[in-house]
Amino acid sequence: MATRAGRLSIALLTAVLLGAATPAAADPPGAAGYAAIPLQVTGPDGAATDDLDTDYAMALDAVDTWWRTHWNDHFPGRYTAPGLAPAARAPGLYDAPAEQVYCGDLLLPEGNAYHCPIGGFLAFEVDLMLLSQQVGDAFVYVVVAHEWAHSMVSHLDPALVSEAYELQADCLAGAALQGAVDDGLLTLESGDAEEFTASLTAVASENEWGTVYVDANGQPQTETHGSAQERIDAFERGGTDGVRACLPNSVG
Ligand SMILES: [Zn+2]
Repeated sequence: MATRAGRLSIALLTAVLLGAATPAAADPPGAAGYAAIPLQVTGPDGAATDDLDTDYAMALDAVDTWWRTHWNDHFPGRYTAPGLAPAARAPGLYDAPAEQVYCGDLLLPEGNAYHCPIGGFLAFEVDLMLLSQQVGDAFVYVVVAHEWAHSMVSHLDPALVSEAYELQADCLAGAALQGAVDDGLLTLESGDAEEFTASLTAVASENEWGTVYVDANGQPQTETHGSAQERIDAFERGGTDGVRACLPNSVG
């Protein structure tokens, strides 16, 4: 059912993810409980998949292709794709703690995904990505698109970087995934909207963006990711209105 131009209308989407190399960003993905309507983000041939390796490869390809094609629609200069951390299973898909990936001095832990600004690469820990088996494989696409967005933002004029950079990444993830659907790189099928919602909800914080809270170590932290509703709103805004809607201070 390849609804080619289906909107990522996420009735509630919360988007994803985890940090820009800040381990504290890892909202414990307490997923389960989100019913798994089988997820079906598919490739152009319409074949549904539920295999992490296939979805991961497809997500990387679609998001990279979309940004490569559309970078100059929005920004000057040459498109620069992020690198991917070395890993045995697939580039970028590391299995901690067996595989040690460092971002500077930081050993990237299990259960999270990162854009490492120092090395200009992305890293996705397998245990996080396997949450897709609980919430649907749309999860894989949202995580990849979110981390990719952090990399894109790292190349922007600082005036275009939002203070709420995690929500900006969610917004750009929505823009890229909807853009990939519009370009025929990905196909949406029934159930996908629910899966996007579940995926985003699974990794959202209980705190609204900017909330100061005390973490498990008794340290004050400021919420950078935002609540499920905030992340859903951001993702939807990008999906509906595109990249420009994700940029602060843009003209027009
Ligand atoms: Zn992030």
